[in-house]
Amino acid sequence: MKSTIRKSTYQAIYRLLDRVSPLESDCGKLCGAACCTCGGDSDDDDFQLGIYLLPGEEKLFSQKEEWLKWSAERAEDFDFPDSWFGKIHFIRCKTPPVCPREHRPLQCRFFPLAPHLTEEGELRLILCTTPLPYSCPLIDRQMKLTPSFIQATYTVWTHLIRDPLIYDLVLMDSEDREAEGVPVKIVR
Ligand code: SF4
Ligand code: SF4
Repeated sequence: MKSTIRKSTYQAIYRLLDRVSPLESDCGKLCGAACCTCGGDSDDDDFQLGIYLLPGEEKLFSQKEEWLKWSAERAEDFDFPDSWFGKIHFIRCKTPPVCPREHRPLQCRFFPLAPHLTEEGELRLILCTTPLPYSCPLIDRQMKLTPSFIQATYTVWTHLIRDPLIYDLVLMDSEDREAEGVPVKIVR
């Protein structure tokens, strides 16, 4: 798939998100880093599909990182928009929750926030509504997130949805929530 987002833009996004985190303290201490370790040390690839990279995000990796296990899947085989086709890169961490923080993928950096488009087409940030195999205290307790994390994440998403493929993904997820009546907690 052809991403319109340049490597330098992804690098700038990583740098911006390197400077923020959901809480002033390490939220991983609240839950034993549940979002990193929920897959345990299973070698069964079906047990944990891993983290998918956004189109073009793979440009930031050599795919030889020793802390990652890579796989490529066909977008058509998963719940992605119709405009997505061909190879999607999935990664699994070999030593969670330990990783080189400056290289962790965007999915890790945004969580527990997710983008949502209103019926009027306005971008909002909501608490993640995806069913999870673990409990995230930030979501369950609706804990107050740092304003810098919210602002940086919002800024990043305003750039990301300029890419047609990423826009389609955010739109599909948003429409699915509306259609299924999933309650959303708007954060921004
Ligand atoms: S984002 Fe949620 S699940 Fe992940 S480490 Fe922080 S509190 Fe735990
Ligand atoms: S890349 Fe880092 S933050 Fe993300 S799931 Fe793996 S260990 Fe956790």
